[in-house]
Amino acid sequence: MTAGAITTGDIIKGIQDSTYELLTESRLARVGLKDEQDTAAVLEKYAWLYSLDTVRRAREAYEAEADSGEKERLRRVYYYLMDGYVERQTAAQEDKVVSFEMNAAVEVDGQTIPYHNVRALMAREPEYDRRDRLRDAQLQVVEQTNPDRLEIIHTRLRTLCDDFGYYDYAGYNSEKKRVDYELLRARLEVFLARTEETYNKLMGEWVERTTARRLGELGSNHFAYISRVPEYDLYFKKESLLGVYERTLRGLGIDLAQQHNIHLDTEDRPKKNPRAVCYPANPPSEVHLIIKPLGGLDDYAAFFHEAGHAQHFGNADPALPYVDRNVATSYALSEIYSFLMQFLTMNPAWLRDVVGVPADKVNEVVYYTRLAEFFLLRRYVGKLRYELGFFQGPYDEARNRALYATTLSETTEFVYPPANFVNDMDSGFYSADYLRAWITEAMLRHHLERTYGERWFTNHEAGEFLRSLWATGESKENEEIARMIGYEPFDVSYLADQFLSLDKLRSEV
Ligand SMILES: [Zn+2]
Repeated sequence: MTAGAITTGDIIKGIQDSTYELLTESRLARVGLKDEQDTAAVLEKYAWLYSLDTVRRAREAYEAEADSGEKERLRRVYYYLMDGYVERQTAAQEDKVVSFEMNAAVEVDGQTIPYHNVRALMAREPEYDRRDRLRDAQLQVVEQTNPDRLEIIHTRLRTLCDDFGYYDYAGYNSEKKRVDYELLRARLEVFLARTEETYNKLMGEWVERTTARRLGELGSNHFAYISRVPEYDLYFKKESLLGVYERTLRGLGIDLAQQHNIHLDTEDRPKKNPRAVCYPANPPSEVHLIIKPLGGLDDYAAFFHEAGHAQHFGNADPALPYVDRNVATSYALSEIYSFLMQFLTMNPAWLRDVVGVPADKVNEVVYYTRLAEFFLLRRYVGKLRYELGFFQGPYDEARNRALYATTLSETTEFVYPPANFVNDMDSGFYSADYLRAWITEAMLRHHLERTYGERWFTNHEAGEFLRSLWATGESKENEEIARMIGYEPFDVSYLADQFLSLDKLRSEV
């Protein structure tokens, strides 16, 4: 295709086709059907699309457009292409890291363990010192990937600066995603301060009871074990997961048997990454929901999280233009719905009636699930604080290693290893996308409970309402959803309340 002939129609068709191929390529590697990931080849095939010329053409089209709906879509196309162009510069290196990790193994106590299984093993390992040995082995692999990961970040920063004039990474993302990171951060610092005492007290108790050590002394690698609460495993059997999913959807008026557009992959393959994931290859007609079921509360939570994404994408109105179905400026919208489904694991009625947790155990499950979530949320505030700091001095490795460890340790009271300073960071301030979703999900759940009651998930009208939100696909921003249901964007009070109420719930456990 020659540059002179490219229309916006060609560009959007190119985005649709290349996105489909990219998601399919990374899905096949992720589920263990391919040994190597080669997204670089896909991006090279679409070099005409993810090129400086095409990005500039998209920008001109966006700037010249008078119709507001079309202008918004072209705006998204422009940023999408620019990101694609930036990624093209680092795709081969990214593939190298993914393929390396996929095939890496660690040696612990004379045993060889695939790298991807270490995390799950650590969560299930009752011996404290062995959990540390697993962590040490894991970090050796991480250190091997760090130079590549750092170089990927530096190349992206240079490309944004040299080719597009964005010299400030936070500024670029803030413009693209329409987020004031300082405002978001300030609101979340208030959240941290308001909830600190409750967190330290309750988390401190939990840590002492499960490990006989004090909060502040343990490495972050122990958290997955502490929060896995194996005593509840018997209520969350791996064989029951799909039945629970089916009943949950039925409550909302959705028939799983009829949802042919959401492809479930539950197969157990040796190289399949065990973490659940959703690939919106071409929503709503082709969405993939993937899990390697292990059983346990954490596994259920991870599955329902991804199922929330799958329902969001799978229920998009097929009549919407492609850009409104699958081209977003951030993940903050879809994460509202993934959290909503995931947090059913904190809903007493759902645990009792859908999962079948005995009535006298329900409060315990809710309490520990929410307390674990409390940790995660504080960790993400720490991540955002760290990432904003990182990008103020992205070339100062020693400073960033130290900044990572101190910031994350400060917000969570668990000790973080400096080695994870780039491994534990997703591009584009994904941490902020999650945090925006946490804030808005608390509002949406508050709205659902107020309107349809605690058992909203059994109410077809609630299902109808959610489907009406999902039908809008990716066409809205996270904060528009907050406004649509009558809340003030970035208001953290609904979020704070659900953790502050933990103190009272504890007395009932
Ligand atoms: Zn998600």
